[in-house]
Amino acid sequence: MSISWRTDFPGGNGLLLEVDESADRPVLRFAAEPRNCPQALWFHFRVTALAGRAARIVLANPEQTLGGVDWSANRPVARRQPRPWARIGTPQRLQTPGGRVEWAWDLDAGGDAVELAHCFPYQLADLDATLDELGGAFQKTMIGLTLGSRPLPRVFSSLPDAGRPAVMLTARHHAGETPGSWVLDGLLRHVAAEKRLYESITWWAVPIVDLDDAIAGSYGKDPWPHDCNRAYGPPGPRRPEVGAVQRDAERLKGAAKRVFFADIHAPGHGEQANYVPLRGWDPDSPANPIAEEFALAFQAACPEDIRSPTSHVAPSPTAFIYAGMSSRTWAQTVLGAEAISLEISYQGNGTTYYGMDDYHRLGAALAQAISARLLGSGKQ
Ligand SMILES: [Zn+2]
Repeated sequence: MSISWRTDFPGGNGLLLEVDESADRPVLRFAAEPRNCPQALWFHFRVTALAGRAARIVLANPEQTLGGVDWSANRPVARRQPRPWARIGTPQRLQTPGGRVEWAWDLDAGGDAVELAHCFPYQLADLDATLDELGGAFQKTMIGLTLGSRPLPRVFSSLPDAGRPAVMLTARHHAGETPGSWVLDGLLRHVAAEKRLYESITWWAVPIVDLDDAIAGSYGKDPWPHDCNRAYGPPGPRRPEVGAVQRDAERLKGAAKRVFFADIHAPGHGEQANYVPLRGWDPDSPANPIAEEFALAFQAACPEDIRSPTSHVAPSPTAFIYAGMSSRTWAQTVLGAEAISLEISYQGNGTTYYGMDDYHRLGAALAQAISARLLGSGKQ
């Protein structure tokens, strides 16, 4: 039976260009699909009928990905069920006759099926599994519909009251940025396990803002028709998901003692650092007065083995410019809350490549840094 390639599942992405089964080790050449975006990045596909053979997987369009052509230090993730997802090695550089660069990862022999993804996938089913595991510590409600008519979930620990601070968390404004989801997943787990944090703060989170693109397998950066994280205005929201987040955050702010807003992202594909931008990426965006202080607190809260070498960056004026207001700028300037955005690497911190548990530990550190800001740093 010849090799089969599938992407028809939530989060699937990757166009198979060719299969060469002439050698003992089949070669599968694919491209990360831009779908509705100017740049590609996310991929997640399933290969079957390997019949125990090793395989070589070749990414054919790295120069179309956000972060550019150099994938030399990137270690995607693979899963051979029932084993869990794990990192594979770094790739080999291939040069095409016309001068383009492609990257090849070699997979060991074993089993009939393998799944490969740019980073650990995270879909609604993963969120639901975590909520089940946490035994009702967090509930889920719908705050509106997406552009594609899907109910947009928000999870919450409690209803707000005027005597207690609150946190509004968002992830996946850019659908393929799954490190943000694993960090948020770790934060929820930590909060559920820490009585003081759970009871002293109201925790709300919209775990997958661009749900349509997450399910469709799109990277979701600057997608058609609008980037969710550039759709906060002005004048009004340009995406229904964003309007739903805005109304929800306003309700939380109106009822809670104060609100801290945190939006979690992932940077270019190969960056090996986590950081808080000191202002938005657009040249005229306002500085964030709390960014550096919070960035240092988060960095210090991270366990040493997974701590980022940098805590914050001042965005370069030569960076890509996407018109429209981001969630953090909106939360800071319109909602009037303390707000940060946080970039979490797809790879690691330059010495350790992150596993799923490491992202969870970063989430616990984020919970600690936010709680210390809202409650003071008193130990239990
Ligand atoms: Zn992003």
